[in-house]
Amino acid sequence: MLFANLVTILPLACAIFVLIFGFFVVAKNISVRVNQLLFGFCLSMFFWMFGTFMMFYLGGENTQASIFWDRFVYIGVVFMPPLMHHFSIVFTRIQRQKIILRINYFLSFLFLVASRTPYFVDELFVYNWGVHTQAKILHHFFLLYFFIGTGLFFFNILKYIKKIRTKHQRKQVALVCIAFAAVIFGGGSAFLYAYGIDTHFPFAYLSGFIFPVILFYAVSKYNFLDIRVIVTEILVGATIFVLIVDIFLSKSIYEVSFRTAMVFLITLIGGSLIKSVYGQIQKKEQVSRLAKSLEKANIRLRVLDRQKTEFLSIAAHQLRTPLSIIKGYLELIKDGAYGKVEKKLTHVLTDMEESNERLVKLVDEFLNISHIEQGRTKYHFEEVDVNHIIASVVEEMADKAKKKKIKINWKSKKNIGLVYVDEDKLRNVIFNFLDNGIKYTEKGSVTITFTQKDNGVIVRIKDTGIGFDKQDEASLFTKFYRGKNVEGINVNGTGLGVYVCRQFVSAHGGYVWGKSMGPGTGSEFGFWIPKKRTHAHKITEERTVKDEQTVVNQYKHKK
Ligand code: ADP
Repeated sequence: MLFANLVTILPLACAIFVLIFGFFVVAKNISVRVNQLLFGFCLSMFFWMFGTFMMFYLGGENTQASIFWDRFVYIGVVFMPPLMHHFSIVFTRIQRQKIILRINYFLSFLFLVASRTPYFVDELFVYNWGVHTQAKILHHFFLLYFFIGTGLFFFNILKYIKKIRTKHQRKQVALVCIAFAAVIFGGGSAFLYAYGIDTHFPFAYLSGFIFPVILFYAVSKYNFLDIRVIVTEILVGATIFVLIVDIFLSKSIYEVSFRTAMVFLITLIGGSLIKSVYGQIQKKEQVSRLAKSLEKANIRLRVLDRQKTEFLSIAAHQLRTPLSIIKGYLELIKDGAYGKVEKKLTHVLTDMEESNERLVKLVDEFLNISHIEQGRTKYHFEEVDVNHIIASVVEEMADKAKKKKIKINWKSKKNIGLVYVDEDKLRNVIFNFLDNGIKYTEKGSVTITFTQKDNGVIVRIKDTGIGFDKQDEASLFTKFYRGKNVEGINVNGTGLGVYVCRQFVSAHGGYVWGKSMGPGTGSEFGFWIPKKRTHAHKITEERTVKDEQTVVNQYKHKK
């Protein structure tokens, strides 16, 4: 056997293991202060474990050399209190305690110097598992300092845990705390050997294995919340640890070299395995971060959209009354209520009336939209003769069509009977489709047909106008959409008309369509709605009643 026994190699295996862990930590991101401090702490542990191994290894045969290596231990151990304290400050983002931290570092330097003298550790205790130096006067002070210095870490972390709101994060921080406690209280039991107290086996050094494993688990879980990484890390870590122990149990130089090569190989493969798992998880995190920011943007957009709707609603309400007043006065002037009107002026007045009409239509569209978006559209369904609605819309549009020399073809279908609709909304839909038919047709006709199908009725409005392509067809019923077909032609519009039509028809439990064989071939717009009251009507009615109730309540509340 190349090395004495398991007791001897335990500190060495742990020393190497903890050092590998330290390198893993800095390799992850060396610029992060917490990582730097963790690496520093691992280095301290390495000094402790490696010095101890040397002390055990040399045994009682060479007292001076054993004492030398135990003093070597303290090069690392004296820095544990300030490093832990520093770690807790950075980790918990405490602003104060900077002076205490400086004092902590200063004292550790003092003890570093002290540990070089025979007043710190000297002579050896012999135990049945090995030897250990004896604590001298300065060591007692160091012990006091050690537990106060590291105590600051626990003080800060425990205070911090209380403030953490999420249970999950609290668990992570508690794990970090446990990992350090394993070193300070478990590993700290190694001080007992310096006072002649035998624990029968130097369990203290096992903390060199426990610390990285718990911390790896905590840090991984804390950062990436992914069990895959944790399992990979623990498996790789445990394999490397066992292989290191194996090296020291080797019986020949050949075995030593083979097992050392294996450790390197596994470290290399394990490292790249962990890295690739990290990579995958980071990508996953990136995607979820993107999704979150998209969600935020979406919420913001919705807020903006609501604000816009509210603005539209207010602006439209404010415009509606003056426009009605203007319309009234224009009619009165034209009718001669304020004196005889000259022919020249009649033309001007007609133009003004038309412009006013356009504005009224626009404002009505805005009002419709804002009501729809705020869920405040009121529906009052009743049995209505749709023939009658179509006829009245045709009559209303007759002048407009005549001016453009467009023929409106319409034949009433008396035998269809009554349909359960909101008369105003249905009128609005037919009006919009017919208005568009005339608006987007240069010459020819617009034909309206009214038929029955599947317990419902169909109204079709076909024109011989500009038509549209498939791309337009797919987007026609989208809010504010104006087709490519209207680019370059001088026809005013908002892109809201057919969108509103679709909403109204849907509220009746029906559907709309718009189709064309292509630009210049005319188009057909139409809708189907059920004849009798259906479940869709019921839902719409309930919504209307609820909305009216809310308005009444709001009114009462304001009073
Ligand atoms: P607009 O105020 O622009 O007329 P609409 O919502 O009524 O808005 O219509 C949306 C778009 O659908 C129009 O801009 C136009 O591109 C197309 N469109 C609607 N009706 C017709 C039609 N009868 N013929 C050709 N294109 C039409």
